[in-house]
Amino acid sequence: MAERIDMEEAKASNGEAHLDENMVNGLDSHKKSGSESLSERVKRIVKANMLVILTVAGVIIGVIIGLAVREASPTRVQIIYIGFPGELLIRLLKMIIIPLVVCSLVSGAASIDPKALGKLGGWAMLFFLITTLIASSIGVIMAFIIKPGAVTGTKPIIAGLDENVPPPKEIIDSFLDLIRNIFPSNLVSAAFQSYATGYKLVKINITDPSSNITVEKVPIGTDQDGMNILGLVVFAIVFGVALRKLGDEGEILIKFFNSFNEATMVLVSWIMWYAPIGIMFLVAGKIVEMENVGELFASLGKYIACCIVGHAIHGALVLPGIYFIITRKNPYTFLWGIFTALATAFGTSSSSATLPLMMKCVEEKNGVSKHISRFILPIGATVNMDGAALFQCVAAVFIAQLNDTSLNFIQIITILVTATASSVGAAGIPAGGVLTLAIILEAIGLPTNDISLILAVDWIVDRTCTVLNVEGDAFGAGLLQHFVDRTSKNGGEELNEVKVGQTESAPEHSPLIEKQKAAEARHNEKESVM
Ligand code: ASP
Repeated sequence: MAERIDMEEAKASNGEAHLDENMVNGLDSHKKSGSESLSERVKRIVKANMLVILTVAGVIIGVIIGLAVREASPTRVQIIYIGFPGELLIRLLKMIIIPLVVCSLVSGAASIDPKALGKLGGWAMLFFLITTLIASSIGVIMAFIIKPGAVTGTKPIIAGLDENVPPPKEIIDSFLDLIRNIFPSNLVSAAFQSYATGYKLVKINITDPSSNITVEKVPIGTDQDGMNILGLVVFAIVFGVALRKLGDEGEILIKFFNSFNEATMVLVSWIMWYAPIGIMFLVAGKIVEMENVGELFASLGKYIACCIVGHAIHGALVLPGIYFIITRKNPYTFLWGIFTALATAFGTSSSSATLPLMMKCVEEKNGVSKHISRFILPIGATVNMDGAALFQCVAAVFIAQLNDTSLNFIQIITILVTATASSVGAAGIPAGGVLTLAIILEAIGLPTNDISLILAVDWIVDRTCTVLNVEGDAFGAGLLQHFVDRTSKNGGEELNEVKVGQTESAPEHSPLIEKQKAAEARHNEKESVM
């Protein structure tokens, strides 16, 4: 009952009629009639969960295709062609990220009262921080229990990866870069470049020829490829708040961003139907491409297991547990609702690329209002990375064990804190977390070269890591929705505004919902005739 009230409130808060509980499990609405035959019931459940079924089928078929093609030992060129449909999915999702993030944050920030915005943002940050710290702790505990680096004795050697190891960087420079990126000097270049400190050796003391020439390492700013999404997020929020401050004058621009956002979401609903095919070929392509899996597992299997089990504990028990304790709703129904997005995260290894589908899923299937999802999810996809923090902690302890370095209490706390901070700095792209792992290793004085080992298996670990990263964001959005609902039920003033839709735009539909609605209308018609 309580769940139904919440759903209905969410419907009202969305200002949309398309939120439909049936989408979650397809079970409720026909209970009343009791006249539905088994085949009709199965049909309806299949229809309601069509996208999830297609996605699961995509993954399974992808594995089969991958294994079959692998047998034929294809050439590198052929492997690239096999991965092409998957590459298209990633391109489509990437294409949509900038308009989606910017428009949804501008219109989200402009449509919520600044006080409520602060409160929402504050709660979200608190949730993100606590869950990331828990994830880091799980990582450290798992690594101490499983001891992935202790048994091998000698360091495993994986050839050919050393050149991919990021150049070492002072910790202070890593944090300064994070802050610099929050304030991009050029918004246009922030769409494809971010700031990173490099170093130049400069000779000093040249005035006195008798003295030894000393060389100083001077930090220099460089622009590297990769979207500065943190900068865009911060700019969009602040710009939205500024627009709201303008009052009537800002109205037109707010409407512009609102409709831009709506149109982008329509594109997302179309891309969603391509996701199962894309995921199928991403999985197939990866299986065909894998090299020396046996060797990797033999030398680094414990590390991989440690990360994946840690991700599973956090994703299947801890986050759902927190959600259940706070909302008293079934967290697994929530997870089912976002299944397609989780599968996309698994296939693409990118939180940013998963963002569009995640928004669509939480809004349409889990009853999260647009105002919340479109405000919180882009922020979450940028700063909240439970999976990354967890695997970075495992990796740090693993590397310490490989180097026979025992870690004291202070070093463990340092790992927890720096992993939480460096996960904020990690980009939502494949292997984003490995790049910031160097910060943790530097902080506790471990060799950064050992990152090459982590890189060797990152293509596996990164998948479960990204699933966990996006799952944490989705639960954050679900909890905020609960918080808003509860506050307004208790007569709370400020957050009421979050529930009031600012534009009366027509809801965007996904073909699935429209078909399902039409079918339900027909069904109801039949019943009323009878
Ligand atoms: N691939 C992850 C993500 O996109 C980041 C990471 O490597 O940890 O969320």
